[in-house]
Amino acid sequence: MKTFVVLMGAPGAGKGTQAKKLEAALNLPQVATGDLFRANLKNNTELGQLARTYMDKGELVPDEVTVAMVRDRLSQPDCEQGAILDGFPRTTAQAAALDALLSDFSAKIAVVPFIDVNQDVLVERLVKRAEIEGRADDNVETIRVRMQVYHSETAPLLDYYDEKGLLVKINGEQAIDEVTADLTQVVRKVM
Ligand code: ADP
Repeated sequence: MKTFVVLMGAPGAGKGTQAKKLEAALNLPQVATGDLFRANLKNNTELGQLARTYMDKGELVPDEVTVAMVRDRLSQPDCEQGAILDGFPRTTAQAAALDALLSDFSAKIAVVPFIDVNQDVLVERLVKRAEIEGRADDNVETIRVRMQVYHSETAPLLDYYDEKGLLVKINGEQAIDEVTADLTQVVRKVM
């Protein structure tokens, strides 16, 4: 059976960190749209050029561009048994596109863990990450926009997945390994 996991959580909730750990623990590839865009940026592709204009402002890259990129990635052989999606879907249109895409692969979402972290903790983490990693979109103004975008565009997806019975809330304020343990348990149940 294929296992497609959608990791949800606000910017700074720890999706990337956890997706990497889950990748190793569950032997499923991490598919992170932010990383895919950053790789395109680095290689100076046309897609990267286009994405930059949005990413630099903290805005979302248009759905059709993002969905095409995800479709391409999920079509790779390493995603045959499933994948851990990190940073996608981020809009209701992307969620609908993902359902359609998976149905083309005769698959569906197995579970949607939501890494829950208090807003104040999130901002603190992002500011710190900006100092350490120097990611171009980790500055105070962009963080503010990304949070707004999250609340208006992405947070409604929590209800969407909850209504489908797929959402499982995880306490994201625990130590990193405790969060991983909770997530692993939740995903193993549906594998
Ligand atoms: P974070 O980990 O802070 O949530 P990401 O690394 O996932 O950030 O994404 C960084 C930027 O890449 C976003 O602010 C956005 O511009 C773009 N991006 C990533 N995923 C998507 C998506 N699913 N749809 C549109 N834009 C996206």
